[in-house]
Formats: sequence, structure tokens, C-alpha cells
Amino acid sequence: MKRDKIVAGNWKMNLGLDEGMELVEKLAKAYTHHEPRMVVIPPFLHALAVQNYLQSVHSPIEVGVQNCHQETKGAFTGEISASMIRSCRIPFVVLGHSERRQYFAETDALLAQKVKAALGQGLIPIYCVGEPLTVREGSGQNDFVAHQLEKGLFHLSPEQFKEVVIAYEPIWAIGTGVTASPEQAQDMHAFIRHRIAIHYSEAVAAATRILYGGSVKGSNARDLFVQPDVDGALVGGASLDADDFLRIASSI
Ligand code: PEP
Repeated sequence: MKRDKIVAGNWKMNLGLDEGMELVEKLAKAYTHHEPRMVVIPPFLHALAVQNYLQSVHSPIEVGVQNCHQETKGAFTGEISASMIRSCRIPFVVLGHSERRQYFAETDALLAQKVKAALGQGLIPIYCVGEPLTVREGSGQNDFVAHQLEKGLFHLSPEQFKEVVIAYEPIWAIGTGVTASPEQAQDMHAFIRHRIAIHYSEAVAAATRILYGGSVKGSNARDLFVQPDVDGALVGGASLDADDFLRIASSI
């Protein structure tokens, strides 16, 4: 089964508009491929300018945002709905990032609603799972991630689930410079695929795109990408540097 390869850059709450546009202009000049799919994920406020620019230069680079609200519209000051994202022709939305879970108290139950809202608008959720260090130290990572999958995603029908991209991001590897070893990443990706096969089917599991995230850089990407169940990366810090992000994309 040939799966899409994806390299997605989560800018988080970084870069002013000019800096973000400069970064995306550099990427668009250098990156003209469709494989791997390259996705940039700016802050909400800048996402439409980035999307309009990329369309105007006919770039294959796609755009995502970092969150969405679970309701379609209404009195939710400061929030952005999946239908608003859709109306900007932005295809991807990151959901369940560990920073949203940790700092904004997003639970699996809430995320289950957000995933449904995103899919209902035809968006592609990049759904993050991953264990904290204490859980890894106690060898509880498989149970932890299995629980996140069950509560956050397994309410979806097989047809809905097939649209979801999963990102395995061990929390101890995010922004720390400590990457999971290629073997640790492969073991968890194979485990996630196995859980999907049990819940849905072998065919759905084989079609699911599973990205690795956590201190991916140009210098370590290739060793991760040669693992059979690693279909690309969700990149934080290194996606703010055009050369490093391009190097990651060219490592697939
Ligand atoms: C992330 O926050 O999704 C991430 C993977 O960050 P970093 O690459 O900086 O570890």
C-alpha cells in the first residue's frame, strides 16, 4: 500500500507576518514537488495570507492551521470554526497537539468533537498523540497512546477515519532536542497501525498516514524516514528555518 508522504511544519506562535511571508517565499521558490506533500502551519492570523500567496504562485505547498473549535458558529469569542477554515480553502488542521492538551486543558472527549467538526467540513485533521516522559520511563507508552486513539478517534466510521493523519509525538521529544530513536518511532508507529487494524481493518491500517514528531531536523530525518511505518514528520522548531525544513523534506 502506497501512502502519501507528508512533511508538515508547525510554526506555533512564532514569526511576525513579514518573517512568515519571507519563510514561505523561500520555501515556494525552492520546493516544486508534490511528493512528499509539504504543509506549512502558520498562526491563524497569517494563514490566509500564506494560503493566498502560495495559490498565486501555483505552489504545491499546502497550508494548515493549529486548532479549530468544535462548533460551527456562534458566541465563542476568540475562536475559529472548521467551516471558517474551510471557507479560506485551507485543507489541514492540527488537533490534539500536546501543548493544547497541556496548556489549554483539551481532553480526548473534546478532541473527539473537534475531529468530527473538522471532518464534517472536509478538512484533514493531523491528530497528535504521544506520551510524557514519566509514562515512557514506566514503559506505559503503548497503553497511553492506545487510550488516546480510542477516546479521540475510534468513534469515527472507517470512511471518516481514512481521512485522518496521525502524528506520534512523544512529549519528551518535543522541543527538547531529544529525538526518539528510529527504533522507538518504528515500534510505536507499528503499534498504532496494529490498533487501527484491530479496530477497523488491515486495509484501513495500511492506508493510514502516521507522521513522527519530536525534534526532527535535517540531520536526523533520513534515519526516521527509512522506518517502514514512518510516513513523514510533523516538525516544530526546524520548520522555522527554510533550509533545514527543505532538507527534512528531501530526506524522504
Ligand atoms: C511539535 O511541536 O509538533 C514538534 C514536533 O516540535 P519540535 O520539532 O520543535 O520538537
